[in-house]
Amino acid sequence: MNHLAHSTRLPQRPGGPPGGDPLAHARHLLLDLDGTLVRQNEAIDGAARLLERFAGRFAIVSNNSTHTAQGLSLRLRRLGLRVPAERIVLAGERAAGLLARQRPAARVMVFGSAALQRHARALGLQLVAADAEVVLLALDVRFSHARLAAVANELLRGARLLVANADATHPGLRGRVVPETGALLAAVTAASGVQPWRIVGKPEPLLFEEGLRCLGADPASTVVVGDNPATDAAGAARLGLACVLVGDAPGALAPSVAGLLASGGPVHAPFAPAGAASLSTA
Ligand SMILES: [Mg+2]
Repeated sequence: MNHLAHSTRLPQRPGGPPGGDPLAHARHLLLDLDGTLVRQNEAIDGAARLLERFAGRFAIVSNNSTHTAQGLSLRLRRLGLRVPAERIVLAGERAAGLLARQRPAARVMVFGSAALQRHARALGLQLVAADAEVVLLALDVRFSHARLAAVANELLRGARLLVANADATHPGLRGRVVPETGALLAAVTAASGVQPWRIVGKPEPLLFEEGLRCLGADPASTVVVGDNPATDAAGAARLGLACVLVGDAPGALAPSVAGLLASGGPVHAPFAPAGAASLSTA
């Protein structure tokens, strides 16, 4: 696990005293999904209550590249979490959307889920098995040596590499890790020597920007809630957004989002002093 340096900053209107409510002055929330609201097929303690408290004022901003927003909205509803599809910003979908905007009808090899392939096709992209202009690399659970050879040779022929996210893993059940797109990316760069043309997922700014846009939110009164210093906190810091971490990462305010809701609970100072905090961990 590598945690990059990160920092958090005071929102324009500072939170309450230490031990108070770290979300007291948040008008809007940008919420991470895996490890923050859900873990595999379970809702995390406090997730439903957090969404109720911020109903209509939150968006999910996730490096997930497997689902579509529509599919994920249904899946979350089965877990008791009500999130409209238009408030879900996902790395895989947004990567396909970015490509369709920048290169309409591009020839693209998509390594990812069937849902992502259908979404790319629906955006007018041409899905091809060879001679692609762009390779879109997402979480492909059927990735293999043969697929690695196909990607590497497409890139060496001149195709550009568009990557949903660079996460090596995401959290699974009972402390296990689930290999993510970044692990596949490491194999691709090792085999080809080619670096990505563009990475869409956090900590890059695109997903946060689209989350702010879909909410019509002011960055000064928006708080990012996540569990990953390297993606959630670092990405928030790049855009000057306040960030609250949960889970077992260094700098986390509470073990889960439930701890952010408990008044007088084991919550430390809500935000680091403005512009001052920079917490390095190894
Ligand atoms: Mg997470």
